Amino acid sequence: MDGKAAQGVPDRVNDEVFIAMSKALNFINPDELSMQCILIALNRFLQEKHGSKMAFLDGNPPERLCMPIVNHIQSLGGEVRLNSRIQKIELNPDGTVKHFALTDGTQITGDAYVCAAPVDIFKLLVPQEWREISYFKRLDKLVGVPVINVHIWFDRKLKNTYDHLLFSRSSLLSVYADMSLACKEYYDPNRSMLELVFAPAEEWIGRSDTEIIEATMLELAKLFPDEIAADQSKAKILKYHVVKTPRSVYKTVPNCEPCRPLQRSPIEGFYLAGDYTKQKYLASMEGAVLSGKFCAQSIVQDSKMLSRRSQESLQSEAPVASQL
Ligand SMILES: Cc1cc2nc3c(=O)[nH]c(=O)nc-3n(C[C@H](O)[C@H](O)[C@H](O)COP(=O)(O)OP(=O)(O)OC[C@H]3O[C@@H](n4cnc5c(N)ncnc54)[C@H](O)[C@@H]3O)c2cc1C
Repeated sequence: MDGKAAQGVPDRVNDEVFIAMSKALNFINPDELSMQCILIALNRFLQEKHGSKMAFLDGNPPERLCMPIVNHIQSLGGEVRLNSRIQKIELNPDGTVKHFALTDGTQITGDAYVCAAPVDIFKLLVPQEWREISYFKRLDKLVGVPVINVHIWFDRKLKNTYDHLLFSRSSLLSVYADMSLACKEYYDPNRSMLELVFAPAEEWIGRSDTEIIEATMLELAKLFPDEIAADQSKAKILKYHVVKTPRSVYKTVPNCEPCRPLQRSPIEGFYLAGDYTKQKYLASMEGAVLSGKFCAQSIVQDSKMLSRRSQESLQSEAPVASQL
């Protein structure tokens, strides 16, 4: 289903609901977005008890999101290596994975291999020998969408913000929040810190931080006319950060749903995980988590095949004398 399916929707509904929703869901405008994405989200809001619940981490993601995961993995005997990305997927003569070659020079061998890198990165890693397989070829249609995140610390507390995620109808801004209210770590009774998603960002991703902040202030002046002026004659900026992500979540354009891969690939022992793989929660954090669960389930289901492969590989590596 494509954007044309939304024909017949009154302009007011498009302007006041669909634009904000589309930019919040996928950082693009509704004319580009697959309507399937809107329908999946609406269905979820209506059908699931906590489908529309929103919440913030109480601090920064590395500390409050990543570290608990690292601790959990380590407590179960796992190892987490940072700054050691997959550089190349090396293959056996039969086309299955021999090992992952990492950027730190090490090689990782295993019974099962999972790649949970973003789809744009994974496409660069797909070995030549796999490229014509339709499972991998279809990934060409999944392309990350550019997005910019803007953080602005103001010299005063803005009055018209709330302890919640806010949806803007601005043509440049998407969702935003006053983190001095919504997030414990940034709590400040005297100064606001706005964190904003700047989207669609296609035309802005190559521009300077100064231009992006100027454009953001022009938009904020419309949203907070009593408190913010573009020339900073009202609230003043104490500091800012602009975070550009040239390829973020996959762009949910019409007909891309059939291109999302199942977690089990057609290559024995090789699996994918990540929000772009097949799962019901669109491109989101919980979608990424669900994809990890599906991936783990596939590996458990395949355990007999994986241990058979592992035995065979041990036998083929054993010295000839010991095989006699
Ligand atoms: C600005 C912005 C705001 C968002 N807001 C929300 C939100 O409010 N709620 C929500 O649910 N979702 C939100 N999302 C979407 C959410 O961040 C993603 O859906 C989610 O992070 C996807 O998780 P993932 O594990 O699939 O991929 P990622 O989080 O992208 O993780 C992929 C990992 O692979 C690693 N990697 C890259 N290259 C390699 C390599 N060669 N070898 C090994 N590893 C590699 C990366 O370092 C990264 O750690 C937002 C996204 C953006 C950009």
